[in-house]
Amino acid sequence: MQLIFLGAPGAGKGTQAKIFLERTGLVQISTGEILRNAVAAGTELGKKAKEFMDKGELVPDAVVIGIIEQRIREPDCAKGFILDGFPRTIEQAQALDSILAKLGLALDHVVNFEVPEEELVRRLLGRAAEEGRSDDNPDSIRKRLEVFHEKTKPLIDYYEKKGKLRHVSGVGSTTEIAERVKAVVGV
Ligand code: AMP
Repeated sequence: MQLIFLGAPGAGKGTQAKIFLERTGLVQISTGEILRNAVAAGTELGKKAKEFMDKGELVPDAVVIGIIEQRIREPDCAKGFILDGFPRTIEQAQALDSILAKLGLALDHVVNFEVPEEELVRRLLGRAAEEGRSDDNPDSIRKRLEVFHEKTKPLIDYYEKKGKLRHVSGVGSTTEIAERVKAVVGV
């Protein structure tokens, strides 16, 4: 099974992906986590990505598409995967379509987590206090939400037209939300 968890920063995609994979054994692929690890390790990729991430901007499409293609080809992904935080632009979505086609894979569901804007800001500021992520400061949060509206929201339409979109309210307890995901995905 191949899934995408779509939603604004702070919508709970990562938390729900972790709960889902514990239940199903799928692999979670989070471009944000891969990039943060690269930054922490001080690799060339990390150095390139950090300046975009700290400003709340997207890392260039070619970079993240390369990361995803490499990761999806790794053997553990054969059991199925959840993409968390990718794609974030139409160009990334189109690249994903061709990567999946090359590998003979299809998308099963795109789960769209819906959370009101003021709740997103509240969560992101809370996470900043708890985890100390360097991109969870007010300026970067504002920018990331702007980028989401401009670049990522069009994906809702893109996957709706393909008949893949499933809507899930991302407000409530993590258990309640996990139950909603289970209901739309069917496992
Ligand atoms: P996330 O943890 O998914 O919120 O990602 C943190 C940051 O990593 C984002 O604000 C972007 O700078 C970068 N990033 C993660 N995924 C992508 C992506 N698919 N395309 C471009 N940049 C990304």
